[in-house]
Amino acid sequence: MKYFNSRAFAEEQDQKDPLHQFRDQFHFPIDAEGQPKIYLCGNSLGLQPKQTSKYVQQELTDWAKFGVEGHTDAKTPWLTSHEDLSAPMAKIVGALPEEVVIMNTLTVNLHLMMVSFYKPTQKRFKILIESDAFPSDKYAVESQLKFHNIDPEEGLILWEPRKGEHLCRHEDFEALLEQHKDEIALVMVGSTNYYSGQAFDLKRIAKRCQDDNITIGFDLAHGAGNIQPNLHDIGADFAVWCTYKYLNSGPGSIGGCFVHQKHIKNQDINRFVGWWGHNKDSRFNMRVGFDPTPTADGWQLSNPPILSLAGTRSSLDLFEKAGFDKLREKSIQLTGFLEFLIDELDDTSISILTPRTPEERGCQLSIQMKNADRSLFDQLTAKGVVADWREPDVIRIAPAPLYNSFTDVYEFVQRLKHCLHGN
Ligand SMILES: *Cc1c(COP(=O)(O)O)cnc(C)c1O
Repeated sequence: MKYFNSRAFAEEQDQKDPLHQFRDQFHFPIDAEGQPKIYLCGNSLGLQPKQTSKYVQQELTDWAKFGVEGHTDAKTPWLTSHEDLSAPMAKIVGALPEEVVIMNTLTVNLHLMMVSFYKPTQKRFKILIESDAFPSDKYAVESQLKFHNIDPEEGLILWEPRKGEHLCRHEDFEALLEQHKDEIALVMVGSTNYYSGQAFDLKRIAKRCQDDNITIGFDLAHGAGNIQPNLHDIGADFAVWCTYKYLNSGPGSIGGCFVHQKHIKNQDINRFVGWWGHNKDSRFNMRVGFDPTPTADGWQLSNPPILSLAGTRSSLDLFEKAGFDKLREKSIQLTGFLEFLIDELDDTSISILTPRTPEERGCQLSIQMKNADRSLFDQLTAKGVVADWREPDVIRIAPAPLYNSFTDVYEFVQRLKHCLHGN
């Protein structure tokens, strides 16, 4: 696509955009003048779909009307409420419906998956993660090592960018695996790095792990709803994600979890269990021994938070309507436009950390502000831009194709330009 540096071009792209009408289905935060802010922070918290209040209200109404009988009589009966979300969620992550369950939250699910899939032995006990993994993931992995009486210093292998670089190279990952393959019990990486915006080649990573019989899990926090990771086909063992970032299901909302088909019927896999993972037919029988549901649902512990499921249902309905292929196509154009406009600024004080090729990134660009401190970001905020600042000097900008427009992107770069030039 050929881009032009003008508002007219941005407006023309918006008119041509087949997904443009979805913007009106979201609430945008409003600035002091009553104008919608330039919201480019869907990588942190997705905006609220207008229809979500209707979905949540329905549950409150059903609760008021039916009390406990809402489990069977609610419009979406609570007993099975999570089940019909597995199929639309499976499309988002490239899985079979029986491989996906919506439950808990991301870090909780990561722990549950490591309980089942991190099986250290005397010889093979190390976990490989990317060096600047999201802190929660790092804490989770370190605490799992400690739980097995392994010193994290010894048990953790970091896949790091080379000196002076910001991105991780796949050939370095492969070299690490070659060097440590007999010691690694688990590889756990983010599909898209939260800081740099780099999207890894999950197929290549999974293949390399499978060649050496190493368990591979992915954290899709910045991937789900951004890039479809094809979890089933690439043979990932497990994956976890949250739904409040690109999936717009609401702050702190329920998470997603994938367990590959090859594992879901295996009753010998150790897990932490609760009644909701028990086979549905005898779940309320309460006295029989634990009989796991032979799908990813078998990893559930508790009955799910229905109000969170309502937010997730609302959001997934919008994704179904928009179609993921169309979203990704727009995403590539929208982020390409952002990249083009930043390059047009021709300002040596800023540089883009994120890879330049669309296949190696989702919608986020991470912009490094050399010699800047947070004040530049604060100025942007004062100008009605909602983005995200990461110490020491990175602004993360994520135009979400479901609700952001080419005009948003143009307007953001105009405001950035004013901040850089001190007006
Ligand atoms: C957002 C994010 C989290 C947050 O975890 P919660 O358990 O949902 O609070 C964890 N890991 C990564 C990579 C994230 O991007």
